Amino acid sequence: MIKSYKIRIYPTKAQEQLIRKHIGCCRFIWNYMLAEQEARYKRGEKHMTAFDMNYLIKPLKKQEEYAWLNEVSTTSLMRACADLSRAYDSFFKKISRHPKFKSRKRSKASYPVREGPGFYIASDKYVHIEKLGRVKYKTDFELPIGRGAVKFSNPRIVNSNGKWMIGFGMECENQAPVLSDKTMGIDLGVKDLATVAFGDEQLVFHNTNKSKRMRALNKKLVHLQRSISRKYEANKQGNAYVKTNNIMRDEAKLRRMYAKIANIRHNYIHQTTHTLVARLPHRVVMEDLNVTGMMKNRHLSRAISEQCFAEFIRQMQYKCEWNGIEFIRADRFYPSSKTCSECGAIKRDLKLSERKYVCGECGAVIDRDYNAAVNLSRYAA
Ligand SMILES: [Zn+2]
Repeated sequence: MIKSYKIRIYPTKAQEQLIRKHIGCCRFIWNYMLAEQEARYKRGEKHMTAFDMNYLIKPLKKQEEYAWLNEVSTTSLMRACADLSRAYDSFFKKISRHPKFKSRKRSKASYPVREGPGFYIASDKYVHIEKLGRVKYKTDFELPIGRGAVKFSNPRIVNSNGKWMIGFGMECENQAPVLSDKTMGIDLGVKDLATVAFGDEQLVFHNTNKSKRMRALNKKLVHLQRSISRKYEANKQGNAYVKTNNIMRDEAKLRRMYAKIANIRHNYIHQTTHTLVARLPHRVVMEDLNVTGMMKNRHLSRAISEQCFAEFIRQMQYKCEWNGIEFIRADRFYPSSKTCSECGAIKRDLKLSERKYVCGECGAVIDRDYNAAVNLSRYAA
């Protein structure tokens, strides 16, 4: 099985320069080939495969005006052609839109690294990358050290918010752990992120958006947004808004804050899903949430989008898969909230405001979310 990883790298100044050159050259090749494809299409000529495009690289490199292409890895340029070819494939299959030209400012700064023997983890501090040599990295993952220790696929260097990362797939032997005989039901919510029934245990993971740290960050964010819009108003010339250096600086700050908040949320979900899977249930049941339906509720939509339910479910699903745990989405109409987990009676008129489930049949009083989680853990697929 192939697992995907993303680790932070710390290139030297010279390496960073070379990374930027690769990004620029790959973007150039992408745009050049895209223009070539379009020109051929207009002339009624055949569409080029990745293989056809690769043939155009060599003569290009021989032209004096494109001599700088020789400073970067040819394989990276070829993989840029493969990227474009894939983009065309999904366009022809109507999965995505027509490939677009990349721009230095708007496109994501990334480039495909050559895979194969030149890409490997050299030690617990350095990763070996073609043309760059040994690049420092840091990660909590345990990566196999040494040339040929493992098969990597699709390595790609990306800049995300000023940080350099390398992402890749790694072939892993699937050593399935011994699972417990217990099932796990997970109820996602707005008050708490997840309420979990695991055997007889109840686990609760709070909503990180309500934490002190997040509230403070949000307050700062709102403050900055207001100050930016005030600056726009103050510098207005007639009807036109002007972007001053001050505003640009603040907007960059704002983007960094958004990224920070998103990172905190993402990390928290990773920690939570990791903790859950580490308990090794043999089966996990989650509700098939109607997120789009819930988003229509104006009072809830913001809280729901902040909780990133879809990301939670995605992580649970692949982490279960990694460990050989059966992952089940309960039918949307399964009455997990409305059923009494003590006696099985169904309460049709349960309101959203009722935080406690009070059973009219057996008199049981149970936390609403936990009641739902218990019912999910018993769901028979
Ligand atoms: Zn009951």
